[in-house]
Amino acid sequence: MPVLSSCDPAERFLADYASIDVLIENGTVFDGLGNEPVTADVVIVGDTIVFVGETAFTDEELEGRIKTRIDAGGKSVAPGFIDLHSHGDPLETPEFENFLAMGVTTISLGQDGSSPETAALREWLDKVSQRGIGPNLAMLVGHGTLRTLSGTGLKPDPEPEEFESMLAMLDETLDYTFGMSTGLEYNPGLNAKSAELRALAEVVSRHDRVIMSHMRNEDDDQLEASIAELLQQGEHARVHISHLKSVFGKGRARADEILRIIDRARGSGIEITADVYPYTASYTGIGIVFPVWAKTADEFEIARRERREELAAYLRERVEKRNGPEATLLGTGPFKGKTLAELAFEHEMPFEDVLIEVIGPQGASGAYFVMNDELQSRLLQSPHVGVCSDGSPTGFHPRGHGTFAKIIEEYVVEQQVLSLTEAIRKMTSFPASVLRIRDRGTLLAGSKADVIILDPANVRALATYPEPLQLAEGFEVVIVNGEIARQDGRLTDALAGRVLLPN
Ligand SMILES: [Zn+2]
Repeated sequence: MPVLSSCDPAERFLADYASIDVLIENGTVFDGLGNEPVTADVVIVGDTIVFVGETAFTDEELEGRIKTRIDAGGKSVAPGFIDLHSHGDPLETPEFENFLAMGVTTISLGQDGSSPETAALREWLDKVSQRGIGPNLAMLVGHGTLRTLSGTGLKPDPEPEEFESMLAMLDETLDYTFGMSTGLEYNPGLNAKSAELRALAEVVSRHDRVIMSHMRNEDDDQLEASIAELLQQGEHARVHISHLKSVFGKGRARADEILRIIDRARGSGIEITADVYPYTASYTGIGIVFPVWAKTADEFEIARRERREELAAYLRERVEKRNGPEATLLGTGPFKGKTLAELAFEHEMPFEDVLIEVIGPQGASGAYFVMNDELQSRLLQSPHVGVCSDGSPTGFHPRGHGTFAKIIEEYVVEQQVLSLTEAIRKMTSFPASVLRIRDRGTLLAGSKADVIILDPANVRALATYPEPLQLAEGFEVVIVNGEIARQDGRLTDALAGRVLLPN
């Protein structure tokens, strides 16, 4: 990195670089760290930001040296956003335009305990690299996948050699991934006991990686216990709560209680952080409403034969508690766009019978309107809570196409519950620090050139529940590794993203 003298940066600069790939002039530049923005130019050479400040180049000096020149006067310039919890298959939809269109330049996959089912995750990542990818990818290895690959499967207690195999696979994979995810509300992860999770946390700690957890239970009355379980692992390794939410909890005061748990743990030296998405409906497999004894196909068949009444009563109570069948909007297959209440009406049977006879625990995914806006908005205000989409290019929930735009449109511009500076920090340097991505998430000389240009007043999250696949607007230029990935609403053919390695 050349050292820039403060008196004649431009002159010095031109001596060092025969050519400049991108010059962004006169933007309002946010560094991502939470400092107030400054009016400045941003100079990109190759994949790196080499200068931020007043360049004062004359046209003559620039003559023949500059490939792309962008006037960002009146616009905001920021580091590209980093999504702490994303979904999708880069071999199927490598462009990930849904993410780029809302300013996301790095996604993280392998979430909720589930990564591609191959012991050689490195080979899968190589394939992703070769295929090309729009945004960068920070990969996690799934705890549930380790259980499957080791032969532990659904057993509560792995055999000793299975356990050794899980530990060894984790140890090997963490060399080139950013952490381990758990999905303790899903099979097979939900079968794991605390001793297993602690032992795995030891391995994560040795690599200075993070455990990202879809916790055991997000119901309001189970939240404290779920966080306590994660904090046990936090005694060993850094821990992170994915899509922090209270299912059917309400109000700001309840959010403050939850945040106090996090603050207290941090005060005692546990490195715990969290992310949220800005919607009041969750989205996952319908299995979420089925009891632990009827989630797999086999368990479900047995339950249907031998415990049908009990199963129906469980489903009735659980769905009612989750705001009823009107608040369950299915998003897949023949049920797409219909609520559970509508299906019950169509089939002329109680909704719990629809769940048992028509859908089943693996039969659909859906959106569940189970959250309270006051509570979730309050969570977002904590400095230790960042943003995730939990979305994908194809998921039938607006979060996959709207999240990062909605944060700016609603929380910054309309409601003003976050300043633009803080919102950008939450979506850039904060997630970079959670994942320990050291050269991204900031707009500084020396950082990798993931840069976005936006006019906050024009940012729109257009995705809705009925039309969840509409791209966001207002992110005028999205640069990934120094290349323009999307501009004026159009994808380029750059596929400039990279599979990131911990650094
Ligand atoms: Zn999840």
